[in-house]
Amino acid sequence: MYDTIIIGTGPAGMTAAIYASRREMKTLVIGKEMGGQLVWASDIENYPGFKNINAFDLIQKMQEQVTSLGVEIKTDEVKKIEQKKDDTFKIYTSKDVFETRTVIIAIGLSPRRLAIKGEEELSGRGVSYCANCDGPFYKGKVVSVIGGGNSALDAAEIMSKIAKKVYLVHRRDEFRAFEALVNEVKKRDNIELVLNSSPKEFIGKEKLEKMIVEDLNTKEIKEIDLDSAFVEIGRIAHTDLLEVLVDRNEKKELVVDELTRTRTNGLFACGDVTQVEYKQITIATGQATISALTAYQYLQKIDSENNNKK
Ligand code: NAP
Repeated sequence: MYDTIIIGTGPAGMTAAIYASRREMKTLVIGKEMGGQLVWASDIENYPGFKNINAFDLIQKMQEQVTSLGVEIKTDEVKKIEQKKDDTFKIYTSKDVFETRTVIIAIGLSPRRLAIKGEEELSGRGVSYCANCDGPFYKGKVVSVIGGGNSALDAAEIMSKIAKKVYLVHRRDEFRAFEALVNEVKKRDNIELVLNSSPKEFIGKEKLEKMIVEDLNTKEIKEIDLDSAFVEIGRIAHTDLLEVLVDRNEKKELVVDELTRTRTNGLFACGDVTQVEYKQITIATGQATISALTAYQYLQKIDSENNNKK
């Protein structure tokens, strides 16, 4: 029986593990792949203590810190979480079943994919899901941003200051981003709007070289030469697994209170998968700290109540 099982191996999961183990909680971390959303980023320039750090190096440092504290990190997929009558939990993974007194969910969000040819192969080699993280690497280059929401328009605006030319590709002729932002983007000379258009394929040998775009009205196919494509079409929370135990908002994000508690006793959630407004590493690690400390207090309360009964 673990004191806590943390699901997720990104910065939130690693932080929760550090705090839990330092409270001498018997802790296990389970995650599908190491690093969470950091695997999509290149360099991080807004994590205090590191002016610039490669995302992989950052998550590796966090992982080393966790394992040095004696916490095991298992690469496995959680299939089911069940609360038992005594308020403890059973966690079913593809390979095992674990029992724990508390659970901390830190599974982050997944970028929505275009699901087109070449996208998977060229992701991290020109195809990016984070203009904030990868944008600075394309100084003076030609890039495209795909999407019509605030993320895409923000990305286009940021990239117009960095890149030589930005193609903003959107499937309709109206944006859903804030009007002020749309107006700002329309003012930029180096942003070309490619509206009513949808990317069909990414092409490149070692790295992205071209994008094939279809005009959805005329069905005309256009080839755009570029160095990077930022896919900013939203991110999704994969939380169906938690439907029974946790309230979710309209975006399927997990609803937590200020102490990161969900509506199920002993089940906490932190980081981007929650309804928190700003999806930032610093916020995820802060929330994860709260989760671990609150889980610790929750267990202490149960233990002292049980001792009083004896
Ligand atoms: P979003 O608002 O859901 O917009 C996604 C955009 O991608 C939409 O324009 C959508 O097109 C397009 N899209 C979705 N699936 C697509 C597909 N398969 N192919 C092509 N295009 C596709 O997502 P977001 O922009 O990431 O924003 C998420 C939330 O964060 C929003 O609430 C947003 O306001 C907020 N946000 C706020 C700020 C800010 O305050 N500055 C910055 C970033 C994000 P349609 O329009 O045709 O549906």
